[in-house]
Amino acid sequence: MKILVTGGAGFLGSHLCERLLNEGNEVTCLDNFFTGRKTNVAHLLGNPNFELVRHDVTDPFKFEVDQIYNLACPASPPHYQYNPIKTTKTSVMGAINCLGLAKRVKARVFQASTSEVYGDPEIHPQSEAYWGHVNPIGLRSCYDEGKRCAETLFFDYHRENEVDIRVIRIFNTYGPRMLSNDGRVVSNFIVQALRGEDLTVYGEGLQTRSFCYVDDLIEGFVRFMNQTEIVGPMNLGNPGEFTMMELAEIVLKKVGGASKIVHRPLPSDDPKQRQPDITLAKKHLGWEPTVPLEDGIERTIAYFRQALKK
Ligand code: NAD
Ligand code: UDP
Repeated sequence: MKILVTGGAGFLGSHLCERLLNEGNEVTCLDNFFTGRKTNVAHLLGNPNFELVRHDVTDPFKFEVDQIYNLACPASPPHYQYNPIKTTKTSVMGAINCLGLAKRVKARVFQASTSEVYGDPEIHPQSEAYWGHVNPIGLRSCYDEGKRCAETLFFDYHRENEVDIRVIRIFNTYGPRMLSNDGRVVSNFIVQALRGEDLTVYGEGLQTRSFCYVDDLIEGFVRFMNQTEIVGPMNLGNPGEFTMMELAEIVLKKVGGASKIVHRPLPSDDPKQRQPDITLAKKHLGWEPTVPLEDGIERTIAYFRQALKK
């Protein structure tokens, strides 16, 4: 198949491009390199089935493709808050441009939505039926509401124009090729520990997240995209739930060294707890994560040990 991956030079996008190429597909990776890097896909450039295009999803684009994976959007809070208006535009106009293209060329189109559509959730764990608890005017709103609006567009194009959509809600995912200055918690803690710096736990560190290793997530992406039972939204994530203090302790234990834990102010609207209900993914995809947090953290530490030397 011919497949377009927007945001393909980013953390998740680069793993997805690699997987799709390994399966024999032709892959076009479209990226504006805001948080993505050419180095993430440098090893794919020699593959005749791979094409890298510098383009912004907020501007229209045309490709003759069978499938579109829309991943373009900065995912880390410091990066998506750097230019919040652009973040909303990327989600909303990027969705419109992907959906318009999918309608025109009759491609199946996949949206990388997020657990952030649940906001600071009042029910736990979060199932797809929950409508969320989102601040529409806070610092995280550019991302959360942009993603919510993108979901709305996907379902309206599906209902109005019969566009073949797939919408997944990704819970915190980590692994090799996150940026060392990404700002998300797993890469922050690992990079800090490897540099012998103190680990910055925001607030008391009792807030929870559920961390999924990238390979598990990508397996879920491909299974979901290629089935025809359900269009979503579907949660994908690892139900193992940890406090940020627990995560910091795991990283310290694995890296060793003299780093300590220090506390920094909690960012506004930081969700207190998050855990995916993955009943739907288990039922329709036979999918569940296979990589335990400690193993995934070890693999990610190994990656950053090399990356920080360069
Ligand atoms: P990332 O920041 O590494 O990747 C995003 C990619 O999109 C980058 O390559 C960036 O350069 C590109 N991009 C940003 N704005 C663009 C624009 N206007 N035009 C073209 N390209 C643009 O983040 P990631 O973790 O790989 O996330 C990928 C997708 O998955 C995002 O849509 C994100 O919202 C979603 N997601 C990720 C997670 C996670 O835990 N990793 C969780 C929920 C949702
Ligand atoms: N966090 C932290 N230290 C850091 C970075 C993040 O304690 O150096 C916390 C953050 O406040 C949040 C959790 O870790 O409660 C996950 O943050 P991340 O930015 O990775 O993802 P998100 O908040 O979008 O789930």
